[in-house]
Amino acid sequence: MYSNWTDVEAQRFTGTGTPVPVRTARVQTPAAQMRRSPHHSSRRGQVVTAIIYHFTAGPSLASTVRWFRNPRSRVSAHYVIGRNGAIVQMVPLARAAWHAGRSVLAGRRRVNRSSIGIELANWGSLRRRGQIFRRRGRRQRCLHPFCTWTGSRYTGPTPIRARRRYWEPFPNAQYRALIRLTRYLLSRFPTITHITGHEDIALPRGRKNDPGGAFKWGRIRKAIRPVFRGHIGPIRVRRAAPRRIRRQRRPTSLPRLYRKSLKRYV
Ligand SMILES: [Zn+2]
Repeated sequence: MYSNWTDVEAQRFTGTGTPVPVRTARVQTPAAQMRRSPHHSSRRGQVVTAIIYHFTAGPSLASTVRWFRNPRSRVSAHYVIGRNGAIVQMVPLARAAWHAGRSVLAGRRRVNRSSIGIELANWGSLRRRGQIFRRRGRRQRCLHPFCTWTGSRYTGPTPIRARRRYWEPFPNAQYRALIRLTRYLLSRFPTITHITGHEDIALPRGRKNDPGGAFKWGRIRKAIRPVFRGHIGPIRVRRAAPRRIRRQRRPTSLPRLYRKSLKRYV
């Protein structure tokens, strides 16, 4: 059924042991190269309920694949997509990849166990010439029109300004591959309820900023909405309501002027 798909293990996996119904025969199976990462663990019986998008903050698809295969890195993702749209699978879908770290989604922690992680080759946020930034605890000044977080010259397409920063844009080919892959995964895992970003699930809040300000969720929504009824895009975190400060009641007999001044200084 999935003859041109390398990851046959996923066919058997739904978390409940039941075969995965394929929603539509029109879903194209994207061609992916398999390059295994040693970093994965058991899903502990959890059903796949989410797809998490990331950016790699790196120079290339190849460098990320190398890093995820490096025993020192202790990180991985199910898929990495290059800027040109090439897809590499690194972890079987039946296993939990190590992409989310400390995280929570819909009240559930350890999102790795219940999600599929997709990395997009992209530098993430960029620095402008003259801007001083910290790298490995050292202050560094950007000497090029735009710098990557490593201090190297940024040579990609014109950065996008968003959230008071600059970001590397994602090329069309990469969006197209991501959409194709996402549609494919949705057809394989009808249990998926959320498609969101790493920054929306990482704990503590603000620890991560990917897929970042350049990522066009609208594009994903437009392409995916017709085949998916779940949540697509950033998740607004509802903050706990601030505790009410009890106001001390002042005696009503106080002169008005005195009350006014109290208001000003208290
Ligand atoms: Zn990430």
